[in-house]
Amino acid sequence: AKRQKSHYCQFYRADMPVVSGDDLQLETNLRYALERHEFDVYYQPQRVLGRQRSSSVPALSAEALIRWTHPQQGFISPGRFIPLAEETGLIVPIGEWILRQTCTQVKTWQQQGLPPIKVSVNLSSVQLNQPHLPQTIAQILQETGLSPQLLELELTETALMQDATAALAMLSELKTQGLRIAVDDFGTGYSSLSYLKQFPIDTLKIDRCFVNGLTTDAKNQVILTAMIEMAHALDLYVVAEGVETEAELALLQDYQCDSVQGYLLGQPMASKDFYTWCQAMTLE
Ligand code: C2E
Ligand code: CA
Ligand code: CA
Ligand code: CA
Repeated sequence: AKRQKSHYCQFYRADMPVVSGDDLQLETNLRYALERHEFDVYYQPQRVLGRQRSSSVPALSAEALIRWTHPQQGFISPGRFIPLAEETGLIVPIGEWILRQTCTQVKTWQQQGLPPIKVSVNLSSVQLNQPHLPQTIAQILQETGLSPQLLELELTETALMQDATAALAMLSELKTQGLRIAVDDFGTGYSSLSYLKQFPIDTLKIDRCFVNGLTTDAKNQVILTAMIEMAHALDLYVVAEGVETEAELALLQDYQCDSVQGYLLGQPMASKDFYTWCQAMTLE
């Protein structure tokens, strides 16, 4: 698989262009992608490091990532179509499909004899603004019979802070169902940290721009150490994203990071491959 070139921390700007004219064809294709069954959910494994801080977090965990294969155009990356799906509102049905598909799959794995797997699903700010979101999620959990503790919703800082009051109300309602909330791309989206004490957050996912080149970047070492220490003081679980080398992993272990995700441990994989990966982990 292809490696992306090292990436620097990108900060959010409100005036970022979202949709260009080139996307019109893409939009037409996107409208039919769900009913034509062109989407798939891939699973990227995470590895728990050292001691388990919280016994409520299972040893096996993964992030669910959408994949779109168009019959003519082939693979289209989420980085390209998710912004368009958000702009057009298509993210609502697509997001609901991802949630249902993922919960069904994780429940099936459990029925096939795998230990419980915690799964994180990305949630767009557009979904967060849907008043029906809690009912939708409650219904999916009920339909699939998945334990809510196994489901984590990932939201970026930017999504949370667009309308912080509404987001707080929504997260509080979601939390009553017993699921977990993670802040995605932590450190890149918002300059204030005060939201951390108001929002019912369980996990911080530290953006890969802080992990990239960690071993030679003294500043990133300082930032990561401080982030992890702060997170633990606030009783938050910490996942480092984008771990690509053994040296990065060793440092993160030193820093007491709770869990890691990245190409070193595994690429996002099709459900069959993830099942095999879990079997191997369980036998170890
Ligand atoms: P994200 O949520 O930050 O997801 C992590 C991205 O980093 C994934 O890209 C993953 O394949 C990639 N990645 C994982 N490990 C490494 C590594 O070691 N090095 C590098 N360079 N990259 C790594 P992907 O799957 O292309 O997704 C890109 C973004 O698209 C996601 O960023 C997320 O914002 C969005 N996205 C993906 N799936 C969904 C979804 O189901 N729903 C929503 N709303 N957004 C999604
Ligand atoms: Ca994510
Ligand atoms: Ca992320
Ligand atoms: Ca991202």
